[in-house]
Amino acid sequence: MNQIELIRALPKAELHVHIEGTFEPELMFAIAQRNQIQIPYQSVEEVKHAYNFHNLQSFLGIYYAGANVLVHEQDFYDLAWAYFEKCAEDRVVHTEMFFDPQTHTERGVEFATVLAGLKRAC
Ligand SMILES: [Zn+2]
Repeated sequence: MNQIELIRALPKAELHVHIEGTFEPELMFAIAQRNQIQIPYQSVEEVKHAYNFHNLQSFLGIYYAGANVLVHEQDFYDLAWAYFEKCAEDRVVHTEMFFDPQTHTERGVEFATVLAGLKRAC
């Protein structure tokens, strides 16, 4: 077993992750289209490019653009489920997941909607 294989095989713990920050470009783009919400990116490639952020402000730009497409329970479910699939792939066996309710309630999304989607994915 080489070092890469060893690292892949080791169980891991993710001690602090904000679920909104795990948004994969493909899923962000798909949910934006599903909900007919404009994001400042024309393609999955543009979203990927935006993830190469270079300072806090450029990170927050894509973070809030992504969070903005989350409206329905299914959206929160899909976001969390995609993250959990990635955890399984990377052998993350423990994760301490955070979410930012005020980012959603300030846009008129009910707290219960956010929680229901995340809980169902768990
Ligand atoms: Zn934090």
